[in-house]
Amino acid sequence: LVDRMEPHAETIFATMSALALEHDAVNLGQGFPDTDGPEEVLEAARAAITAGHNQYPPTIGIPTLREAVAAHQARHHSLRHDPATEVLITSGATEAIAASLLGLVSPGDEVVTFEPYYDSYAAGIDLAGGVRRTVPLSYPDLTFDPEQLAAAFSERTRVVLLNSPHNPLGKVFTRAELEVVADLARRHDAWVISDEVYEHLTFDVPHVPIATLPGMAERTLTIGSAGKFFSVTGWKVGWVTGPAALVRAARVVKQYLTFTTASPLQHAVAHALDLGAQVLTDLTDSLQERRDLLVAGLADAGLDVRPSDGTYFVVADAAPLGVPDALQWCLDLPAAAGVAAVPVSVFCDDPQRMSTLVRFAFCKQVPVIEEACRRLAAFT
Ligand code: PMP
Ligand code: GLN
Repeated sequence: LVDRMEPHAETIFATMSALALEHDAVNLGQGFPDTDGPEEVLEAARAAITAGHNQYPPTIGIPTLREAVAAHQARHHSLRHDPATEVLITSGATEAIAASLLGLVSPGDEVVTFEPYYDSYAAGIDLAGGVRRTVPLSYPDLTFDPEQLAAAFSERTRVVLLNSPHNPLGKVFTRAELEVVADLARRHDAWVISDEVYEHLTFDVPHVPIATLPGMAERTLTIGSAGKFFSVTGWKVGWVTGPAALVRAARVVKQYLTFTTASPLQHAVAHALDLGAQVLTDLTDSLQERRDLLVAGLADAGLDVRPSDGTYFVVADAAPLGVPDALQWCLDLPAAAGVAAVPVSVFCDDPQRMSTLVRFAFCKQVPVIEEACRRLAAFT
């Protein structure tokens, strides 16, 4: 293995899910729903196979899905995209992130991103030979210092890699925060890659796509994922939207990563996107209830729970329990308490930052969350 990929040898999700399995623990570590999406969406995939959509689709994605993604961006965000040149279907948001970085970042170019960051960002930047410039999100208020952000930019800055709603913090960036990011991106003539996979999973706060801010549509690639929209994370269907020249950069790379994305699943996602907003609202409402349940349970167990305005995740501070290091605590937790969770420090360049914070997933069934809370309360 090349040196630059050694730090990324095993993802934290593989480690924690293996421990959960070994100890029969309730898995609140890896963020995947334990119930599948709407039956109508699942049926659309079965129907697509039966209808014979089983050979290579076009590398940029089937026309009906590109049209459905463009219609979604127009309907929800008033962003207009030509499905022929400004939409690319990818094998999950993960491929979208990697293809966008590989298409836009030359070796030595700098990529600005907030810390903590979703784990594939560091690996994607390293794949491209880019240099990561991280800006800490502060704790406990979960915001950033505009001057620190400004200081992370240089003449080598090529890309800002943004994530809102934010995994792992459950933070939804405000319009004012995004304006600071946008202003710096414009001033430094940087592209923005905006990972918005949780755009519909926000609770009582608005999601603002950075591409909707003045002067940003022409420099932003926006990334989405059907896995998160429709609770089918194993399908790995995602997309990139943006100006044709930037989408082309990701498209050229995608040809040599996967060439194309599973045909029947593209058909099913096109159908799902046309079902209308109710499906998405139902998921958000039920997730919000489960968030509240988990937040109450974690507080009962003695953790200091931080607010989560979106995503599948809530972060809690284990310091009040006398825990000095959440990484070790999370490694022990499956055996000791029968619960799996993820330490936030693994999403940071500096493991001392946020070293007592733990991420718990609430995209699980109510009895599963209740059982996890019982086990944690008994343990702490
Ligand atoms: N970005 C973020 C912030 C995520 O949390 C995830 C996965 N949960 C992804 C990207 C990857 O999405 P996909 O499964 O569609 O590749
Ligand atoms: N994104 C999910 C999480 O944050 C996991 C996806 C993965 O395992 N790569 O838990």
